[in-house]
Amino acid sequence: MTRHSTLPGEFQLISRYFAPLAKGFPGAFGLLDDAAVIVPAAGHDLVAKTDAIVGGVHFLPDDPPDLVARKALRVNLSDLAAKGAIPRAYMLDLVLPGSVDEEWVAAFARGLAQDQGEYGVHLIGGDTDSTPGPIVVAIMAFGEVASGQLLRRRGARVGDIIYVSGTVGDAALGLAILRDGLATPDEISAAFLVERYRLPLPRVALGPRLIALASATIDISDGLIADLRHICEVSDVAAIVEASRIPLSPAARAVVSADPARLAAALTGGDDYEILFTAPPAAAGSLADLAREVAVPITAIGRVTATATESHGRVSTLNAMGEPLLFSTEGWTHF
Ligand code: ADP
Ligand code: MG
Repeated sequence: MTRHSTLPGEFQLISRYFAPLAKGFPGAFGLLDDAAVIVPAAGHDLVAKTDAIVGGVHFLPDDPPDLVARKALRVNLSDLAAKGAIPRAYMLDLVLPGSVDEEWVAAFARGLAQDQGEYGVHLIGGDTDSTPGPIVVAIMAFGEVASGQLLRRRGARVGDIIYVSGTVGDAALGLAILRDGLATPDEISAAFLVERYRLPLPRVALGPRLIALASATIDISDGLIADLRHICEVSDVAAIVEASRIPLSPAARAVVSADPARLAAALTGGDDYEILFTAPPAAAGSLADLAREVAVPITAIGRVTATATESHGRVSTLNAMGEPLLFSTEGWTHF
């Protein structure tokens, strides 16, 4: 890369801030070689996922750098979790404009260190570049899963129950607070929702435990309804969701009861990083036990149906009266 005016050289940055994050992983060679080696445990598949986040698109340029780092890592861990994989390592491609200084990189690396402790993953390599454009943080995460056991989007069957982990819509409302000045009933709710936008909670303990219970899984990044449609399309089924069952946090509930039109943001907003999955009715008891064990709520929100020839798309959402809700970019309306 070309040298930054405000940053030390590339190799100093790597040795000062990134090499310490590679200490616990022998195959990273202390970030002193050209490539890294990952040896999955015997009888396991290596699972890989990459996601980039871009300043001004996925985070706000003045967001705290440690939270930017942790979000960049966590959105990848969320995909691994939704596939039943246990995370082990990640690579980091960091593209920085000249406006970024060393303190930013130091705080960024502190955020990574914190989450490495939380999730048991290690930095094993990457690339560092400068740009005339916005900050780009591209992470590739690696995990492992027992051979052939990866959870797939395809596999939902007619009669399955649709479940979602945690709560839905918090991040979309948090972004609306930051970006559009959405008013909330109280400040504690606002802080909670903004935190959920800035710092997703990948369901790493839950995901691997869904192997043998779930028939299809996806992590919610586009929005509950859009991501459910992805499951339905590849599984060639349809879905009915009962809006009143969708789990909302107390903060989201407060916002929606003050302004019911905000429900659309909860159901279609995205950035939730919860696991949406289907499972046969017989799994209900095991799922209730699992939710208690991993301390993550699991809520049934609907059911899988056969594809209708004359349907309004594959996913129908019903209100508490059983009437269909229609979504548009403006929000939802009754028929
Ligand atoms: P190369 O010249 O072979 O592309 P680099 O000079 O880009 O290698 O990087 C040297 C070492 O530092 C490599 O092991 C690389 O994986 C690591 N590295 C570079 N940038 C980063 C980063 N942002 N995060 C983690 N490791 C990095
Ligand atoms: Mg390079």
